[in-house]
Amino acid sequence: MEAGNGARVRWEEQSYPRHAELAASSRVALLPLGAIEAHGPHLPVGTDLWISEAMAREAALRLAERGIESRVLPTIPYAPAPFADGFAGTLSIRPATLTALVVDLAAALARRGDEVLALANSHFDPAQFGALRLAAGQVGEQGRPRLVYPDLTRRAYAARLTEEFRSGACHAGRFESSIVLAERPGLVDDAVRRALPERDVSLSEAIRQGRTSFERAGLDDAYCGDPAAASAAEGREIVATLGELLSEAVLEALESPGRHRPVE
Ligand SMILES: [Zn+2]
Repeated sequence: MEAGNGARVRWEEQSYPRHAELAASSRVALLPLGAIEAHGPHLPVGTDLWISEAMAREAALRLAERGIESRVLPTIPYAPAPFADGFAGTLSIRPATLTALVVDLAAALARRGDEVLALANSHFDPAQFGALRLAAGQVGEQGRPRLVYPDLTRRAYAARLTEEFRSGACHAGRFESSIVLAERPGLVDDAVRRALPERDVSLSEAIRQGRTSFERAGLDDAYCGDPAAASAAEGREIVATLGELLSEAVLEALESPGRHRPVE
């Protein structure tokens, strides 16, 4: 795919001569961050991969519309996911492993001349935020590239997402199920999804209260919110907003290079 025509450029699909050409015009790398963790009985454990990839893809398209070329890096599939560790299929890594990987990638990108590394993150385990905060600090000390990511749980970002997301019921409910219905409809167990009762639990509130697992937070089946109310149409709207949020964070970093804070 060519840059500049609204198509995203996937880093791993380019040859080195092509990268040499692209490096002249592209100074922005987008990195989707996934997780392998239980997402209710109706969604695959890889749900966050596809949410973050959709976010990065939409951000790349919006940046291209503004004349800014970017390259989308291969997704990091693994994440610290201690909240979901009691459920089959979850593969949780140490936070320090993710921190080291992001810091090393940032250093490699700096050597290639990239100015901005933007993280598309849809995994909200506190261990994930801790790992990314440490990475941001270390990349900040290196000076380049500038590491940016919208922390979607912050009020200013959540205000632009859905009511369920704002309520803190942000795991495998209507919000995430809608996105998977839009992005990977064949991977949703729709009969199971439609029969799930609404689970009105705020995961963010449970985290504030010191809970450390889905079970202790009241997510007996690894979901909260209302998966049965999800729709692909809503998923497409959410994905567009996620792309806007990430592209805005990149634009802000490019426009105020000296002042930009590494996180949030
Ligand atoms: Zn998720």
